[in-house]
Parts: sequence; structure tokens; C-alpha cells
Amino acid sequence: MKQKIYLSSPHMSGEEMKYINEAFSTNWIAPLGPNVDKFEKDLSAYLSVDSCAALSSGTAAIHLALIVLGVRNGDEVICSSFTFAASANPIVYLGATPVFVDSEAETWNMDPVLLEEAIIDRIKVGKKPKAIIVVHLYGMPAKITEIKAIALKYNIPLIEDAAEAIGSEYNGQKCGSFGDINILSFNGNKIITTSGGGAIASDNKENVDHARFLSTQAADKAVHYQHSQIGYNYRLSNILAGIGIGQLEVIEKRVASRRKIFSGYLETLSAIEGIKFNMEPDSKYKSNRWLTTIVIDPDLTGGTTREDIRLALEKENIESRPLWKPLHIQPVFLSCPSYINDVSYNLFINGLCLPSGSNLTEADLKRVTDCILKIFKK
Ligand SMILES: *Cc1c(COP(=O)(O)O)cnc(C)c1O
Repeated sequence: MKQKIYLSSPHMSGEEMKYINEAFSTNWIAPLGPNVDKFEKDLSAYLSVDSCAALSSGTAAIHLALIVLGVRNGDEVICSSFTFAASANPIVYLGATPVFVDSEAETWNMDPVLLEEAIIDRIKVGKKPKAIIVVHLYGMPAKITEIKAIALKYNIPLIEDAAEAIGSEYNGQKCGSFGDINILSFNGNKIITTSGGGAIASDNKENVDHARFLSTQAADKAVHYQHSQIGYNYRLSNILAGIGIGQLEVIEKRVASRRKIFSGYLETLSAIEGIKFNMEPDSKYKSNRWLTTIVIDPDLTGGTTREDIRLALEKENIESRPLWKPLHIQPVFLSCPSYINDVSYNLFINGLCLPSGSNLTEADLKRVTDCILKIFKK
């Protein structure tokens, strides 16, 4: 059996060990310490935001963002439908209800037209949304100018879920810096990783400080343990923050590698009738190309489907995956209000994520494209 090619596997630089060793030699083996402080500083500088709080996961970051924005039991929160369940789960942790908004066809992210329809409709039934969670899926920036304008018009705070989009930019500005509160993930499969981890980023220092306070059990300033609010244990470990510092040092290289992999796939596969790539709509959009995705139209491929390609790759020990199943059709979210145009559903049926790790070799890439080309040569 040939060696397995993964969708997106961790890619260490080697520099991480320096910071991990420092944590050990100074005995900062705790969810606080110099690496956590430095990681937050480095991340803020990278994103050009006022401040960041390093947390145990992206999911924890969304949970705290919602609390900081005042989301409570019985509230409604608008969320992209085309995303991973982690974008919406924290809404439910709070006893609030997600309201799902479908995608536009250009970036595959939240459709601004549907977003405004949804807001108007929710206000009509007496349920003005408490926040909007917009996702930049697979690293492609959403139509953030339009979405921000709508959020502002209706005075609803915006949370940017940039879990898949660190290193992506819109109009020269980094994703993860547009919202009132922004969240990042450093899970093992993301562009850079701390094995598990996340962060909140914002130009609003008070919001970040509030999130950091909640992440360390909401302890009041007192020598005894005193609590006036319910807290969480969501802080990032000082050891893992060391991995984060080392990873952040090479992020531009990692983004460049992922973009090169995308170009490689595009060059080899775009000539195939019925295979389409999601292109950056114009030069303002820069995707980090977290995962290269293709959409297969069986009417044009002579009947070859997404599943045919996925199974052929699997036989060659190559991991590929359908696009995210939209949340409005997930069994657990079926009863939630949703504003749908079927863009995400069709992408889910016909879309496939291809191996895109920044450590993918030229030979790996060729193995993947050869396998796909072979299907279409028959
Ligand atoms: C990975 C991911 C998250 C959650 O991040 P974790 O660090 O795994 O908790 C949230 N939203 C999106 C879009 C993601 O891809």
C-alpha cells in the first residue's frame, strides 16, 4: 500500500521546540506564562488588531465571543449555514437559537442579500438577532464589505469565524480583523496549529479582556477566590502557545505553499470538462487556500460524480472529503429558522476537498492528479 496522503496534516517548522523547551526549563507548565503572552502579542501584530486572547479551541473562542456580546437564553444569532458545526454549536450552549443563512455562488460564503432578508424577517417576528457569525469557508474571504455594512445598518455585532482563514485577506486587510470580535482556530488540521487551540482577536480591548477573564474562571481581583460571574477553563496552555509562536513565524510560507498547491491542481485539472474551481472573484480577495476544493458537474463529466472521484482516490490511499454538509440540513439543526437558496446544498452534493497540506510534496500532488486524470481518460 502506498503511503497515505492526508487532507491537511500538521506541518512543524522545528522552531516550536525552542519555545516548548523554554516552557520546560522555566517550569511554566500551566495555562499561563511567557509563551501565552508572546503568542498573543505576535498574533495581534500579525492580524493588525489591538489585542488577542489565546484559548483552548476555536469553539471556546466562539462561545466566549457570544457571551461577551451579551447573547443569552432565548436569543437568536445569525450564522452561515455552509460551515462546520463548531460555528453554530456555541449558540446552542447558551440556549440561543441559530438562524442559518445560505451562501452566494461567488465566494460560497454568507449571501448578503439573504442576510438582510433574514434580519428584516426576524425583526418582523420580534426576534432581532443578537449577533451575526460570518465564516470564510476554506479560506475564501466572504463579501465582508457588504456584510459589515448590513451589520452596521441594523446595529448587530459581527463575529468573524476565521478558523479556516488565517492568512487570507480582503483588500489588503487580514481576515480575523474585520468583525467586532473575531475568532481563530489552531486545531491540528488548520493552516497553522498548536495541536489544539484558538483565539479571540479584536480592536476592542475591553472585549478581549472580558473574554480572557471568562476563560480563567472569571476570578474577581481578590486574594481569596471570589466570583461574581460564571467562568470557564478555556485558556491556552503555555506549552501549546510555544508551538503557536513557532508556527506563526512561518505562516507566510505556509500560505504560499497552500496557494501553490491550489495552482497545481488548477493547472492540471481545470481542462477537464465538468470540473470547476472556486476562483477569487477579483484581486481584492486573497484566499489562504486552506483546502483546494473542486465542484463536479455530472452532466458535463459524462456521468462521473463526486463520489466516483472520492472512491478512486480512497483506493489509492488518498484522503479526500465532501464539502461541509450545510447546517440547515443537519439533523440536530433541522428545527432552526433558515434562509436558503440551495447554493450550499448543491456545493455539498457535488463538491470535493482535495489534499492540501502545506507539507504535500510535488510527488504527492502528482499522485492525486494522476489518479483523477485516469478516471477521465477511460
Ligand atoms: C475548525 C473550525 C472551528 C472550530 O475550531 P476548533 O479549534 O476545532 O474548536 C470553527 N469554525 C470553523 C469554520 C472551523 O473550520
